Amino acid sequence: MTTPILEIKNLSVKYGAIQALTDINLVVNQGEIVTLIGANGAGKSTTLKAISRLVNPHIGQIIYNGQQLNHLTPDRVVHLGIAHSPEGRRILTRQTILTNLELGAYIRSDRLGIKADIERHFLTFPRLGERRNQLAGTLSGGEQQMLAIARALMSRPKLLLLDEPSLGLAPQIVREIFSVIRQLNSEGVTILLVEQNATLALQTANRGYVLEAGELTISGVASELLNDERVRKAYLG
Ligand code: ATP
Repeated sequence: MTTPILEIKNLSVKYGAIQALTDINLVVNQGEIVTLIGANGAGKSTTLKAISRLVNPHIGQIIYNGQQLNHLTPDRVVHLGIAHSPEGRRILTRQTILTNLELGAYIRSDRLGIKADIERHFLTFPRLGERRNQLAGTLSGGEQQMLAIARALMSRPKLLLLDEPSLGLAPQIVREIFSVIRQLNSEGVTILLVEQNATLALQTANRGYVLEAGELTISGVASELLNDERVRKAYLG
């Protein structure tokens, strides 16, 4: 049986006069990887920001495990088990890798658990472990992306929101990052993945949604979307 972990109902978001999202309906089931694809400016990042409460819905509901998120603070949303790895990574470049990871655990007080999780993430991302005392700004783009994902994991999320993890990275690093995404999912983390690399995203996800100018236009099983003529023409090149 499929159990929704996240339901977005009739969501509209405005930035002043700009209507960024119109009447979005989306479901993410427990254990899935769901991808949201679409052109630049379609509203993908805004959807993730609405879930993590970084922007306010104008209309609509965001429901996580049966609980409305609309009026919660971003902090509370993290406590409930949602972590957001934002576009552009937003790591603290003048802090070490270790400090970045410790800050990712800011909602936790179990020091031993935090230490153990950091070591566990260093097994997943050995290059971060080797450079643990280096300033994060000295990492390559791919390593910074790994750090952004590891930092998000430090809050022990059940639902991980990933915004453009492949952006600007070389193919080999992108492959590594997507292999980690699959591994995290097999370990039980549900993932909502925003990606401009639609082919890779649909090859990785269970289901997908296409966002066009703030509206969801196509949705379905990822393998079927890969063969959908409209998706192929517009997004798969
Ligand atoms: P990209 O891949 O380029 O980031 P996106 O699909 O993630 O695109 P959003 O960043 O969600 O799109 O933007 C959706 C729309 O909202 C765009 O028209 C964008 O210009 C607008 N927008 C986004 N953030 C703001 C903001 N802070 N103030 C005003 N308009 C904004």
